[in-house]
Amino acid sequence: MQHLPPEIRTQLTEQKKQCIFCKITKKEVPGKIVFEDEKTIALLDIYPAVKGDTLYLLKEHYPLLLYASPEESNHYFSLIPQLAKAVKESMVSTAVNIFMANGQAAGQQGPHFLSHIIPREENDGFFNFHFKTGKTINEEEKNILKKNFPHLMNNHFTKNPAAWHKGSGERPSFLQSLAKEKEVVYEDEKVLVVLPSQPVTPGHIEIYSKVQEKDLTKLSAEDSRHFFQTASVAASLVFEGFKAQGTNIIVKSGITDDNKSGRLVAHVLPRKSGDKLDGLNWEQKQPSYDLDSVAGKIKDKCWKVKLEKEVKFEIEVKNKEEKKSEIKIKEEKKESVNEIKKQATTSKTNPDKIKDEIRDAIERL
Ligand SMILES: [Zn+2]
Repeated sequence: MQHLPPEIRTQLTEQKKQCIFCKITKKEVPGKIVFEDEKTIALLDIYPAVKGDTLYLLKEHYPLLLYASPEESNHYFSLIPQLAKAVKESMVSTAVNIFMANGQAAGQQGPHFLSHIIPREENDGFFNFHFKTGKTINEEEKNILKKNFPHLMNNHFTKNPAAWHKGSGERPSFLQSLAKEKEVVYEDEKVLVVLPSQPVTPGHIEIYSKVQEKDLTKLSAEDSRHFFQTASVAASLVFEGFKAQGTNIIVKSGITDDNKSGRLVAHVLPRKSGDKLDGLNWEQKQPSYDLDSVAGKIKDKCWKVKLEKEVKFEIEVKNKEEKKSEIKIKEEKKESVNEIKKQATTSKTNPDKIKDEIRDAIERL
């Protein structure tokens, strides 16, 4: 947390001492850990929403993901598809949800930010994400989103330049009709951001992947980062723009009773106390089945989860290529100078012409 101002660091250090997840991370308290690497850890929720509900955290203590360094949040988002795949496969389920709660009003339980990875399938009896839509959004509220979203994404790309980003990209066929039905507020090569015609609450934003129609687990690390970073931008925007007290990010992937199309989509919802959306959150109760055997199954599938070092790799390759082309340019310069010298010495017929040629050649260089 060296990137944070000292007063926040002091505050977080105090908070950390009481934090159960920090104690589990440091192995001072036992937890049903299914995965860990140097920055992240995943463990089975002992009060699961459904069987296999897995908590995924950064090891460092941050109340909101917003506090994490860019490196940490990149690492965190990169691993979500692989972990979702492991959870889904170990529970032999057909769909998966990612649930994030920012702030108490959104159902955040403790001061250590985490995501739930929830294995899902049709008829699984989990109805919390079955949205009751039908609210409306007024023009003024719409304009807040339409004006600010592109601006914030622009800022995002200034801070995190992406070689693939040039503009709005093309719409894949699976998003053509959806883009006509809903109001598009932003799009780039990898995501389409829309306002649903019947929001769950004013400020409800939907983010669709242009890369994967349905399956979160097939997103590359880079595509996952961008998908979740866009969702984070949306969450910050509705938090500020709609004076919310919290936000939820709910990602659906695959067919469930609350996602009949099976589409991959992130719903971003501003939350306020008394907003009657408490149904999104579930009651904490211990299950009747054996959690250790569930944890064992998930752990068995998590051993190969790993952060691909492709970002670092890309930069290294780019640098090498740049160096190579520099050398090439230098060699070309040398060659052309030699050529000019040669011409100058061999041709004695028209020295002025040669001088002009040399001047042109030098200018060209
Ligand atoms: Zn903590």
